[in-house]
Amino acid sequence: MAMNCNGSEIKMPEIKFTKLFINGHFLDSVSGKTFETRDPRTGDVITRVAEGDKADIDLAVNAARQAFDNGPWPRMSGYQRGRILMKLADLIDQHIEELASIDSLDGGKLLSHGKFLDIPGCANSLRYYAGAADKIHGDTLKMSGEFQAYTLKEPVGVVGHIIPWNYPSSMFFCKVAPALAAGCTMIVKPAEQTPLSALYYCHLAKLAGIPDGVINVVTGFGPTAGAALASHMDVDAVSFTGSTEVGRLIMEAAAKSNLKTVSLELGGKSPVLIFDDADVDMAVALAHTSIFTNKGEICVAGSRIYVQEGIYDEFVKKAVEKCKNWVVGDPFNPQVHQGPQVDKMQFERVLKYIDIGKKEGATLLTGGKPCGEKGYYIEPTIFTDVKDDMKIAQDEIFGPVMSLIKFKTIEEAIEKANSTKYGLAAGIVTKDLNTANRVSRSIRSGVIWINCYFAFDQDCPYGGYKMSGFGRDLGLNALDKYLQVKSVVTPIFGSPW
Ligand code: NAD
Repeated sequence: MAMNCNGSEIKMPEIKFTKLFINGHFLDSVSGKTFETRDPRTGDVITRVAEGDKADIDLAVNAARQAFDNGPWPRMSGYQRGRILMKLADLIDQHIEELASIDSLDGGKLLSHGKFLDIPGCANSLRYYAGAADKIHGDTLKMSGEFQAYTLKEPVGVVGHIIPWNYPSSMFFCKVAPALAAGCTMIVKPAEQTPLSALYYCHLAKLAGIPDGVINVVTGFGPTAGAALASHMDVDAVSFTGSTEVGRLIMEAAAKSNLKTVSLELGGKSPVLIFDDADVDMAVALAHTSIFTNKGEICVAGSRIYVQEGIYDEFVKKAVEKCKNWVVGDPFNPQVHQGPQVDKMQFERVLKYIDIGKKEGATLLTGGKPCGEKGYYIEPTIFTDVKDDMKIAQDEIFGPVMSLIKFKTIEEAIEKANSTKYGLAAGIVTKDLNTANRVSRSIRSGVIWINCYFAFDQDCPYGGYKMSGFGRDLGLNALDKYLQVKSVVTPIFGSPW
């Protein structure tokens, strides 16, 4: 039995669902194969999960196709769909503790984040799209000549969602909730590192009354299950969140199969620009949060911190001090700020980048080493003397590694901020309104946070510019990914105008 630092018992979740969910049933994979999912706190196996591949994707797509072509989900009113989404949201609220602890065990996320942010956020996302489900409508168009038209918004059909491991629950619902509201049916391929909570959500979806075949989950690996979904001839759209490399493969698979529509939420290397007029303590706290939250495993992490020369030295000193009070440890312990990296591969990848940073000539000010005897923990790490063309300033590390870079002028800051292939998010810290607005318009990225960071909301669309992808999750914009627009034209004779 594990204990937290207060001496109280840490309650581990019971793992109840480990099979594929297809057409409303939990099933073994066709091959009978399973794979291990591991606890990143120790590297120990938590359980084995059904390993789906092409044969299982075929079954799941067939179930989703039947549910779309002949089932009630796309045909019921938006209001009815919304009521069922509300019910699912309530069921999630009733299981917050258990769901949060599954994601902590499977992915090393802080239990407190799961309990207070991720899982309640999933329920709220369902409620947001439940409210939208009966407000999906087209336009009436006055055409030239003796015609008029109206547009219909129709569900796109069968959707494949392929999601990453860093926010297993939030990623699941930022795809599934709007697709359900739109009337689509779907197959979700969760990341192989964190398959457990997605299967739990299938159980709750069934309890809520979502008809069989509407949500199917095929756990398994990317090059097998994921690739089969992306290249399937009977999938109408694929919504992907993950790395830029795999995003390219998804587009290729869509192009080579049935030209399904594709939306991609990809990697980032987000800059935070801190100007001389900023409150230094506030700026240090914001920058720290922007990169060390969720152990740096956030696509919008502020991994490049640009500080203007007037406050640079003070900023560096305080940024290092802040790391000294940052507690790395068991994510179930409420005193801990940072848990382990998701798996051994990610742990080794981050350490390799720290090594590259040292070899490239950046100065390692603090951190840089693994912590603890076992598990995948890494110290919060800060590099200074980072140059824009270094690998640590260009590549997405996806770990707790801050790169600090000095700048002189606003023009230089803008140029540096735009100097990577990514364009997902950016932060600006200044008291000058014009600086904030000017820089916001000059940075090519999908989200800009001024004097704040990670301020997400259901209503606020989110997605990338450049090689961070295209399409938007969250907000009403996300519905567009799951809707087709049809123009219906009729003649109109003798119209007075
Ligand atoms: P990944 O690209 O390796 O995997 C993402 C998903 O794709 C997984 O489910 C994986 O199994 C699947 N996959 C892998 N190869 C595939 C293939 N050939 N065909 C089809 N599917 C395949 O990414 P990851 O390591 O799981 O996640 C980290 C990445 O995700 C980072 O780059 C991060 O920035 C990005 N991310 C982006 C956002 C965003 O909203 N922009 C959010 C979270 C994470």
